[in-house]
Amino acid sequence: MAELFYDADADLSIIQGRKVAVIGYGSQGHAHALSLRDSGVDVRVGLHEGSKSKSKAKAEEQGLRVVTPAEAAAEADVIMILIPDPIQAQVYEESIAPNLKDGDALFFAHGLNIRFGFILPPAGVDVCMVAPKGPGHLVRRQYEEGRGVPCLAAVEQDATGNAFALALSYAKGIGGTRAGVIKTTFTEETETDLFGEQAVLAGGISALVKAGFETLVEAGYQPEIAYFECLHELKLIVDLMYEGGLEKMRWSISETAEWGDYITGPRIITDATKAEMKQVLAEIQDGTFAQNWMDEYHGGLKKYNEYKDADSEHLLETTGKQLRKLMSWVESA
Ligand code: NDP
Ligand code: MG
Ligand code: MG
Repeated sequence: MAELFYDADADLSIIQGRKVAVIGYGSQGHAHALSLRDSGVDVRVGLHEGSKSKSKAKAEEQGLRVVTPAEAAAEADVIMILIPDPIQAQVYEESIAPNLKDGDALFFAHGLNIRFGFILPPAGVDVCMVAPKGPGHLVRRQYEEGRGVPCLAAVEQDATGNAFALALSYAKGIGGTRAGVIKTTFTEETETDLFGEQAVLAGGISALVKAGFETLVEAGYQPEIAYFECLHELKLIVDLMYEGGLEKMRWSISETAEWGDYITGPRIITDATKAEMKQVLAEIQDGTFAQNWMDEYHGGLKKYNEYKDADSEHLLETTGKQLRKLMSWVESA
C-alpha cells in the first residue's frame, strides 16, 4: 500500500527556515516560486542572462527577485531545478555544482537526470524530489484556490538525515499535502512517468485518436463528424473515468456503447500492443529512451520538429481548429 502524507504530516517551518532557489520560471517554476513565497518561504528565481523569453520580466512583475542560476544556487541552501530536462545537466555543471555546500539540498520535479546519471551530485547534499502530478499552471491555480495537486516525493540521497521531512515541507509549501503526497523513489517516478506519457497519456492517446479519425475519413465520412467522434467526445469520456473509473463511464454511456467497449476494445489494444508496451518500458528502464532523447535534443531537434510539423498539418488538427472557432467556450476552457 502506498504511503500517503497530508498537511498534518508535514512541517512547513522546515522549508520556511531555508533559502530556496527556483531555477527556471516556466510551467512548474512559476508555480513553485509563487506558491512557496505565498507560504512564507524565502525564494529567489534563477534565470539565465540573455533570456529570450519573458520569464525574467514576468517573475519580477510578480514580485520575485531574479538572479542568475549561479547566484541563486550560491545564496540558497535548497535548489529546485525547474528548467527543461535536457538542459539540466549543463546548467547543473556550469552554475549549480560549483555553488553547492555540504548540507544543501538539490530538488527535482522529475527524476530523469538523476535516474540515468546525467547529474551526479556530491555526497554531502540531500537529493530530493517533489513531483506534482499535474501541469504547472494547475499547480498554481489549485494552490490559490486553497486546494492542491497531488505530488510524489522521493529521496535519492539523504546526507542530512532529514531529507524526507524537508521534501514533505516543500510539498506543503506548494499545496501538495492538501491533496496528498505519495512516497516513491527517483527510479519509480522516472520510469512510470516516462511510460505513462509515452504509452497512454500522450503517445497512446494521440495515435489512437489519429487512427480512428483516419479510418472514418478514408471510408468517406465527413472529417467534422470524425473529429467529434474521435477527439471531441473523448473529454466527456475521460471526465467520467476521472470521476468514477471505468464503471461510471460505462454507467453513463448507452448499453450499445458498453457492449462495443467490451468486444472491440481488445481487438484494438491487442496482445501485440501490450507486448510492444513491455518493449517500450524495457527501453525506458535500460536508459535507451533517455539517451536517444538527449541526443535528439542536443542534435538540434530535427526529428522532433518533423513530427511536430507533420501533425500540425494533419486533417484532424486543421478540422479541429475550424470547429473550435465556432465553440468559443471550448478554446477558453
Ligand atoms: P519549462 O520548459 O516550462 O521551463 C522553462 C523555463 O526554464 C523558462 O523560465 C526558461 O527561461 C528557463 N530556462 C531555460 N533555459 C535555462 C537556463 N539555461 N538557465 C536558467 N533557466 C532556463 O519547464 P517545465 O516546468 O515544463 O519543467 C521543469 C521540470 O519539471 C522538468 O524536470 C519537468 O520534467 C518537470 N515537470 C514538469 C511538469 C509540467 O507541468 N510541465 C509536470 C511535472 C514535472 P526563459 O524562458 O527565459 O528561457
Ligand atoms: Mg513527464
Ligand atoms: Mg456515440
